[in-house]
Amino acid sequence: MKQGLKLWEQTLNALKQDLDEADFSVLFSEANKIYKVENNFIYIIVPNALTKFRIEKFYINRLNEIASSLSDSLVKFKFILKDDIDELEKLMPTEKEDVNKRPLRAEYTFNNFVTGESNRFAFLSAMKVAETPESLYNPLYIFGDVGLGKTHLMMAIGNYILDNKPETNVVYTSAQEFTEDYFLATSTRKGKENIEQFYRKYRDSDVLLVDDIQFLENKHSTQEEFFKVFEHLHGINKQIVITSDRSANELKNMMSRLKSRFNWGLSVDIKVPDKPLRLNILKRKLGFLIENPKDVPLDVLEIIADYFTNNIRDLEGALRRYVTYCVSLNIPFTVENLYIALERLIPEDEEEKNISSKLFENVKREVAAYYKVAVSDLESPSRKQVFTYARQMAIYIIKAHYNPSLKLIGEFFGNRDHATISHSFDKIKNLLKTNPLVKNDYDILIKKINK
Ligand code: ADP
Ligand code: MG
Repeated sequence: MKQGLKLWEQTLNALKQDLDEADFSVLFSEANKIYKVENNFIYIIVPNALTKFRIEKFYINRLNEIASSLSDSLVKFKFILKDDIDELEKLMPTEKEDVNKRPLRAEYTFNNFVTGESNRFAFLSAMKVAETPESLYNPLYIFGDVGLGKTHLMMAIGNYILDNKPETNVVYTSAQEFTEDYFLATSTRKGKENIEQFYRKYRDSDVLLVDDIQFLENKHSTQEEFFKVFEHLHGINKQIVITSDRSANELKNMMSRLKSRFNWGLSVDIKVPDKPLRLNILKRKLGFLIENPKDVPLDVLEIIADYFTNNIRDLEGALRRYVTYCVSLNIPFTVENLYIALERLIPEDEEEKNISSKLFENVKREVAAYYKVAVSDLESPSRKQVFTYARQMAIYIIKAHYNPSLKLIGEFFGNRDHATISHSFDKIKNLLKTNPLVKNDYDILIKKINK
């Protein structure tokens, strides 16, 4: 609400620059209250019908444009008459019920969808379909690997349409549910009645959303049935949106008639998110999880983004787990606690080694530079005093900072065994307590490494 009001005020300030002073004050001086903020819309209360008419006729596009340039999420304004609010209020209970009955997850909106290079085209296409469902993009076919946001985008289309035109019959189904519905309709005794119900459910939809179409592979009679539904809806210009884990051409054992129809409209793919997108998603989700997202160091987000590279659900899950862990134990949001919280989520595989190696190489580089030795001296078997000391310090820092297994550390120091690593750790740990010079080295090094 507060943010909505702020955005509205900023938008008005910007519009003021382009408008005649008198015009502006007539139209907008009283339009300063927000009725509600819902999904993508900010509802502004206006005093009378003429004002509403003029704003909607002449200024609404400009206002929405300004708002979208000021905000990184997609918001639009709607104007509502004071008098209409009472009416609306009366209707509210039923409206609320409808929202609850929506077969769509409320948080899967365009607003909550963060875009980057890998999904921008899919996002824009979905927006376009949501704004003009009768567009030529029929069907819209969205494909990509698991966890990349296909269902989210598809439901965002449905939510957007229902927000704008609540009377639209948006039907969401998965190919699996479609198959089950069909099976039930044909296999029970009330045969005819059931099949009619089945037809009504799907053929009466204004917008049909079918998730995970690949599930229809190998199911010929269901494909046949889906084909009929598709032909019917497409023939009367009803929007169809389909998701899949691969392109239509890659579907196996799928009627070629269907595959060719999937290619009639627009086919868009969502790719694996790059690092900036992963970070932006984490930042956005953090805003939902805690009050002060700034409390979580960027380092933490970077590390999560480095670990979970190809599935946004996993990325989110890791963040949630970390936040829950720290909050419930009332401990600070540190990198150390991240490693502890995620221990079970992070696989000990090649990927982990890659990331560890980046972190560890950094420590080795800083330590070597500080003691004026080469990184290779830290890895070498040499027991020259200065090498040994620098090596032990690097091992201590890595263990204390990142807490990987002793075995893994050993691999980064010329394949030393875990007993050696453990000894090095203890050695420095004791020195830190007794020797201020060692403590001094350590403090300086930590600052450099954390830079
Ligand atoms: P898919 O259907 O492709 O398997 P989902 O749509 O279920 O993936 O997405 C998995 C999770 O990741 C969901 O919680 C979804 O909200 C989230 N997600 C995916 N892409 C984005 C995005 N671009 N911005 C924000 N959240 C996203
Ligand atoms: Mg899905």
